[in-house]
Amino acid sequence: MIPPVASRFVAGEGPAGALEHVRQLNGRDVKAIVNLLGEHYDDREDVDADAREYRELVEDIARSDLEATISVKPTQIGLDLGERVFRENLEEIVETAADRGVFVWIDMEDHTTTDATLDAYEDLAREHGGGVGVCVQANLKRTRGDVERLADVPGKVRFVKGAYDEPPEIAYTDGAAVNREYEALLEFAFEQFEDGIAVGSHDPAMIERAIELHGEHGTDFEIQMLMGVRNDAQFELAEEYEVYQYVPYGARWKSYFYRRAMERKENLRFALRAVLGR
Ligand code: FAD
Repeated sequence: MIPPVASRFVAGEGPAGALEHVRQLNGRDVKAIVNLLGEHYDDREDVDADAREYRELVEDIARSDLEATISVKPTQIGLDLGERVFRENLEEIVETAADRGVFVWIDMEDHTTTDATLDAYEDLAREHGGGVGVCVQANLKRTRGDVERLADVPGKVRFVKGAYDEPPEIAYTDGAAVNREYEALLEFAFEQFEDGIAVGSHDPAMIERAIELHGEHGTDFEIQMLMGVRNDAQFELAEEYEVYQYVPYGARWKSYFYRRAMERKENLRFALRAVLGR
């Protein structure tokens, strides 16, 4: 069972808890991106178990009246075992989801996975005429070229700053440079994309910039934030814009919670207060 301190960031160990959280979010006009926690499996059984759980999750969402999408990690569904395993699992998930009208996001992991992830996304998005989205990372120097390539693919693109420490030869490592690149990518997308822009950031400056660009170009966009991070801002923004909350769940919640708790002093204080009961 997940302790109360972690339940700010993780919606339970099983899908029922996650979907109950989604119901509450939907009641406040926030939609959801449900993610089963897991990554870097080198065991085929783990890969197949999570791929199966994603297909079942899609069925559960489709049977409900919930506004929810899913998000999968390539190394969770087989990329470390080979591109073929990843592709097969992703295709099955996307096909199940396409039949039931559920949207599938593909998270982006470290730079060694970028080509395989974008190739799989592009093929599936073209085959299904949408219904799939992929994440791109502003800290990678290659991303500008990738976004140009994705501009006419009929899916969605989630823009994030990038969560992985990458070598300086291929990545901007200074926060200000990443911010500049993030803004430049948003400017390009709002000018060149017809729709399908997702702003995956908690940064008030980037969200403000996206709202300005939406005003200038009229291109539709959505804002995506993580469960437990700037919750109040999510509900406020949802009064005017389309907002999605990324909702992680699953038995492998400990390392995810640890990352969230360590990344900001406020989160650490919150965790300690909860543990100490004050
Ligand atoms: P930061 O640059 O960390 O912070 C900028 C400002 O935002 C801060 O000064 C503060 O004002 C505000 N802020 C940030 N965090 C908090 C907080 N905890 N509490 C209060 N204010 C805060 N990365 C990947 O590499 N691959 C993915 O697939 C991926 N998917 C993501 C999906 C979603 C929905 C989101 C929100 C992020 C995802 N990320 C992913 C993570 C992303 O790359 C960043 O590491 C992460 O979002 C931190 O960057 P930021 O833009 O939110 O803000």
